Amino acid sequence: MKKYFFATMFIHFTFLGYAETVKGKFRYSDQDPTTGAITFKPIIYSNVEVWSITPGGTWQIETRTTTDVNGEINVLMQWKRARVTYGIRIVAENYACRVNTQRTWSTFFTHPMLNGKEIKKVVRNKNDVLDFSCDFTDLYISQHFNVCCTILKGYEYAAMHREPTETDIVHQVAVSSEIILANSYYSTAAIQLKPENYFEDLLILHEYAHHIEFCVSTFGMIITNHDGCNMDGVFGGLTSLKREEAAWMEGYANFFAQAVNRAFPLEKFVGNSGSLSGYMLEYPHCNASTYQANETELYIAAVLWDLIDDFSPNPNEIYDDIYQNLDEEIFYVFDKELDNGAWPTFSRFLNAWNGRGYANINKIICQNNQMLFTNSVFRKLSGKASFRQLSNTLFEVQVDAYDECGDLVMVDVYDESNSFISKSSTKFTINTNCSTTKKNKKKIIQTGNKPIEITIPCETITCSKASYKFVLQKVGYLNGVTYIKISKDSCK
Ligand SMILES: [Zn+2]
Repeated sequence: MKKYFFATMFIHFTFLGYAETVKGKFRYSDQDPTTGAITFKPIIYSNVEVWSITPGGTWQIETRTTTDVNGEINVLMQWKRARVTYGIRIVAENYACRVNTQRTWSTFFTHPMLNGKEIKKVVRNKNDVLDFSCDFTDLYISQHFNVCCTILKGYEYAAMHREPTETDIVHQVAVSSEIILANSYYSTAAIQLKPENYFEDLLILHEYAHHIEFCVSTFGMIITNHDGCNMDGVFGGLTSLKREEAAWMEGYANFFAQAVNRAFPLEKFVGNSGSLSGYMLEYPHCNASTYQANETELYIAAVLWDLIDDFSPNPNEIYDDIYQNLDEEIFYVFDKELDNGAWPTFSRFLNAWNGRGYANINKIICQNNQMLFTNSVFRKLSGKASFRQLSNTLFEVQVDAYDECGDLVMVDVYDESNSFISKSSTKFTINTNCSTTKKNKKKIIQTGNKPIEITIPCETITCSKASYKFVLQKVGYLNGVTYIKISKDSCK
């Protein structure tokens, strides 16, 4: 592709009389909001305008171009005459994003600067090369470029993982600092960013995730104050379903910001506010959440994160290394099944995931449930019981209890009248008030063409109850219940 491009340019050069070259490499200062450290980053794929003025004339736009992946332009101009002066506008706009000058509604642009003055270059001869390269050190200018360069990576992440049959367009998003809420947010018209957030890359990617939800999936527009664990409706209380929808909408955005961060490590994204940190996704924990897992954004983000990350430093995440790099599977479901008009929830995501026959992720789900809800009531137990008869009325019973990951755990076993019986996974005996009647029963068997009547022993165990109920208890778990059916009748 590139070779063809240059060949085309060369032909134009020959026949259309191109002459001077306008070039430049443009970088902005990316400031880490936490440490204040500055690194220069190229202003990639950004719109650039080349302007010129001839002696006695007025400034006019000559051509529009875009910087490349290195933040460079290289434009062959058409020779007019000597003493044409050129100037450049670099616009804070690319195909994914357009950012307004703070506190205005017009797209931000600036000129390459040297010692605080705009760089202008005068042509003297054909074949002059006019170099406008500039490293912007001004932080206010740099903020605007950081927003769109960061968003571009979010756009690329989405584009890399689109479901092949989906055709929704991710349209260019506008970014404005005109906010009406206390914090930065996304409205379907624009990302509304507080000026102090213009270097907060993870926050920017989080808000951009809402735009991706709006464009390719379904954006549940519920405005909440939320901290990862708890969630309050800004405009009134939320039903359980509304909390589930809001938790998905925010949980996915937290995941998306970290997924983009992981996909583009060389970007060295910075910022520590406005979106859940990578640490929180690896060590999810809520101190006092009163909500179910499905209604908790941190839980949703942590489950999705465990489906893509390579290695967890958290020793409690014993199942984390089962899956890596399932970015595409997650995006497929997000893009297609969750794009059906209903506001997404984690349950809807899981149904669609399983419907596609993707890998079973129950262990990942329960692992995060366990970490998030330690000492809460939302973890679940299940049980299995078996028995062996010791005497007429005495039975040896074994109850095994399993946590939500399917692992055997020790629990306390109670009978249905809440009397403690035993620890599970140890055998114990119960007196069942069952009685056993032994009898002989006659049976006719066929040997050849001659029926023979034989007598065989049989027994009927008759209990006062059809089955016995055991209640499994463990601190921090929702009680499990299991039943054992003891009655049997071999005399029939
Ligand atoms: Zn959000």
